[in-house]
Amino acid sequence: MYDARAYSVASPTSPFTRTTIARRDLTAHDVRIDILFCGICHSDLHQARNEWSGMPTVYPCVPGHEIVGRVAKVGPAVTRFRQGDLVGVGCLVDSDGTCPECQAHQEQFCPSAIFTYNAPDKHLGGVTYGGYSDSVVVDERFVLRVPSNLDLAGTAPLLCAGITTWSPLRRQGVTKGKKVGVVGLGGLGHMGVKLARALGAHVVVFTTSASKREDALRLGAHETVVSRDAAEMRKHAGSLDFVLDTVSAPHDLNAYLQLLRRDGNLTLVGAPDAPLPVSAFGLLFGNRSLSGSLIGGIRQTQELLDFCGEHGITSDVEVIPVQKIDEAYERLLRSDVKYRFSIDMASLKSQ
Ligand code: NAP
Ligand code: ZN
Repeated sequence: MYDARAYSVASPTSPFTRTTIARRDLTAHDVRIDILFCGICHSDLHQARNEWSGMPTVYPCVPGHEIVGRVAKVGPAVTRFRQGDLVGVGCLVDSDGTCPECQAHQEQFCPSAIFTYNAPDKHLGGVTYGGYSDSVVVDERFVLRVPSNLDLAGTAPLLCAGITTWSPLRRQGVTKGKKVGVVGLGGLGHMGVKLARALGAHVVVFTTSASKREDALRLGAHETVVSRDAAEMRKHAGSLDFVLDTVSAPHDLNAYLQLLRRDGNLTLVGAPDAPLPVSAFGLLFGNRSLSGSLIGGIRQTQELLDFCGEHGITSDVEVIPVQKIDEAYERLLRSDVKYRFSIDMASLKSQ
């Protein structure tokens, strides 16, 4: 074991404080990574503040699952990585590798999937600690290759916000000629816009923040709608092939179901804890469907990273030092993020 520097919370209401955590010594298949940047996902906030009743938080909690770093050391059986490689780690750090979900490259649904933080740590006991840290040790099967041409601070969010939006866009066959709505222009939403646009779709952003209209167009949207304006919403009734809903708080899904054309689909990726009421008739008329989507498997995450490398796509980030995580969380709650916070881990070393 060795000590790594990290930032943790001690309770749902505590601020982040500097701490030291134990990381395991390398096993044969492990990669030790010096973390350079870690994105701040709204899931980090939900988890740090114990907002998900189905996934109670174990404290102290070190969130962070949008990790980009450099390989410091590899175990003797590692074949795919070498010291110095640029790599990424997302929401998953282990799975059994043999169950039907793993065989189908959907490791996130493996009954033994281990998430990057707040999951049982089979090596050290306790729970896993995430990327708000200067170092992490991960089985090579869960380490991703990062294209060399991308800005690293903006690449970190691809490991969660990127794959979470890419996976349903691909599942729904989004391509040229499709009209796609993205609801909520935050971390996930702005990646959804960039990726849907790069896939050739006609993109409409639905936002509660009128001030984000110009940004939405710059990020790749063709049209913007302020969702609180019923007349603007009505203009798109029955016209969208697909709606990607990234909203982090309770909101009205029915307003968006009405915008779907026949056989259209609304996929929820946002994860508010409270149930969201759905009108049966909103689904019946038009044979519409409502789905959910959880991140994406490792193979598809690599596909996304490679696509972003080819298309020069990264997240628009505001780079912050670790000392500003609490402030960043408050801004997330005000929907004031342009459009992902990315923590520069050099700030942890300088303390
Ligand atoms: P974020 O950066 O905070 O963005 C959320 C956006 O939702 C806000 O910027 C805002 O956009 C909109 N919004 C916020 N409160 C709202 C309200 N009361 N009514 C309507 N719109 C509201 O969050 P994120 O990191 O993108 O994450 C979004 C959600 O996805 C979170 O719940 C997170 O836990 C979840 N998530 C799920 C997965 C998965 O695998 N399914 C993966 C990662 C994250 P506007 O200002 O444009 O309205
Ligand atoms: Zn996330």
